Amino acid sequence: MHQPSTEPRPSIYYGYRVHAPWLPSAHPGAARRAAVAIVGSGPAGMVTALELARHGVPSVVLESELQVSQGSRAIVFTRRSMEILQQVGVDRRMTENGLPWRFGNSFYRGERVFRMEAPHEPDDRFWPMLNIQQQYLEEYLHDACVASPLIDFRWGNKLTAFTQDAQQVHATVDTPEGPYTLDCDWLVAADGGRSGVRAALDLKLEGASYEGLFVIADIRIDLPFPTERRAYFDPDWNPGHTILMHREPHGIWRVDYQLAPGESPEEALRPEALKRCIDAQLAMIGHAGAPWTMDWCSVYSARALTLPSYVHGRVCFAGDAAHLLPIFGVRGANTAFQDAQSLGWHLAFVCKGLAGPRLLENYSAERVGAAREIIDEAGKSTRFMAPPGRGFRLLRDAVLSLSLTQDFVRPLYHWRTSRPHEYTHSMLNAPDDDDERFAEGPRRGAPPRNVKLGHEDFLLDHLGGGFDLLWFTRGEGLPADVQEVLAGVRARGVRVSVTAIGAHAGVAGADRVLADAEGRCRTLYGATDGARAAGAVYLLRPDQHVCARWLAPDAPRLKAAFDAALPR
Ligand SMILES: Cc1cc2nc3c(=O)[nH]c(=O)nc-3n(C[C@H](O)[C@H](O)[C@H](O)COP(=O)(O)OP(=O)(O)OC[C@H]3O[C@@H](n4cnc5c(N)ncnc54)[C@H](O)[C@@H]3O)c2cc1C
Repeated sequence: MHQPSTEPRPSIYYGYRVHAPWLPSAHPGAARRAAVAIVGSGPAGMVTALELARHGVPSVVLESELQVSQGSRAIVFTRRSMEILQQVGVDRRMTENGLPWRFGNSFYRGERVFRMEAPHEPDDRFWPMLNIQQQYLEEYLHDACVASPLIDFRWGNKLTAFTQDAQQVHATVDTPEGPYTLDCDWLVAADGGRSGVRAALDLKLEGASYEGLFVIADIRIDLPFPTERRAYFDPDWNPGHTILMHREPHGIWRVDYQLAPGESPEEALRPEALKRCIDAQLAMIGHAGAPWTMDWCSVYSARALTLPSYVHGRVCFAGDAAHLLPIFGVRGANTAFQDAQSLGWHLAFVCKGLAGPRLLENYSAERVGAAREIIDEAGKSTRFMAPPGRGFRLLRDAVLSLSLTQDFVRPLYHWRTSRPHEYTHSMLNAPDDDDERFAEGPRRGAPPRNVKLGHEDFLLDHLGGGFDLLWFTRGEGLPADVQEVLAGVRARGVRVSVTAIGAHAGVAGADRVLADAEGRCRTLYGATDGARAAGAVYLLRPDQHVCARWLAPDAPRLKAAFDAALPR
């Protein structure tokens, strides 16, 4: 019988709520069948559930624990993550409670040798980065899940076994009063880095594990530094290694440092060892003897691994269950959101019969491609922060010492932050659009560009939940044959919203009109007046990535684009 802990997790700033377990006896009428069962209520599991719900697909979320996750874990959330969280309705609480930032500093021998500035334009609703502890994110996502009538959230329910055949998955779920069975059409494995679903299917992750082990420690301390990333290279107290510091809400600072060679995680986590290292770091930054209190600490290893496929029969993987990414460059949870947003719509469309299972092959191909790109990027950062061998160390040390006097090497400190993958080669992209002929705007496969339209009003506030057609017009209606294509797609049950941009009154065929008074949207999407693209059209998928763009509306090519994006 599964007995999750009922003791609230310790924290000096976060009050853990222990939820009541979902017990079969208390839900005699509850269906033992689900369209989708999601294993795990971390960021990947909950965003997948919320995305499925947006597309009208119900799910059961199985979570073995009774509380949100232990410790702050992921603390830095990127702009694209915030845009995804906006889609599922938790961006406001994140923004209200998080700490925004955009600068990163690298220090060597007491000198700041590089300052990274992440771009932040008036057209961006969200800051490049937002720091907030993962528990808060999970709390907000959980609140959103329980507010949805389509999500059946089950605390204290642990998936212990499953089998699958061509039609469904048969799951055994253990609870504090014993097991029950749950049949589902699809099982989503969002059960984290130690995924039991992955182990049960005997799937192997591919890639590299680096040698370095790192302590992550959250301490409460009063430090006068702004919310910026601080990286200290090769300090005297920890030679050859890198120490990272980040401010978190509630007066908490994250300190990350590499273990000494030969030191075991148990040794590194002994209170005396932690105190010695943290005091040494504080002394180095000029705050020797500053009082601090430990909240949470852990040891992690930098790994860069992915499954080669995320769909196995009726089981789909997302988040850490699908890949393990080094946290340098804030990749773990930020990648999990992109997986979940993508899986949500792909799976929903298959569940609703709007596309065939080939759509799920596309989910796998796109997200494995994204993970591989991230692994490549993260590997470079990891090799710089924690050189895995003598050659890498020699090179890194050369950069460090040269950087004291030579400006040209300083950009090598750049820390390649997590960024959204562009699905340039997606099979969902239109076969012959006008992508190459645009001078500006998000390319085919890219995520959209946000645009400020007015006070607290941005383009992306208006999009999502289905396909979006952006139609740049001065008021002319959408041509009748284009409207006919859209009517045909809608008749299949696919949601398509037409947004007319640049007009003031109602536009025939448009669901909404955005004035774009200053023409910023037109400019940023390369649909400028006088140019050949003045009547441009963009087609965005439900995850907002561009799958086609044309210089002018064209019914046959629009139909071909929908056929490509919704394979039978
Ligand atoms: C100690 C630690 C520190 C980290 N620090 C950072 C950091 O500093 N920065 C960063 O970006 N990322 C960090 N990460 C990574 C980040 O937390 C993950 O990338 C992120 O949580 C991934 O989300 P997920 O939903 O895929 O998995 P998880 O958040 O791990 O969620 C998995 C969920 O599945 C549940 N579960 C597991 N098995 C079962 C089962 N059989 N039945 C039901 N439920 C089950 C678990 O209880 C858990 O709630 C850290 C992770 C760890 C473990």
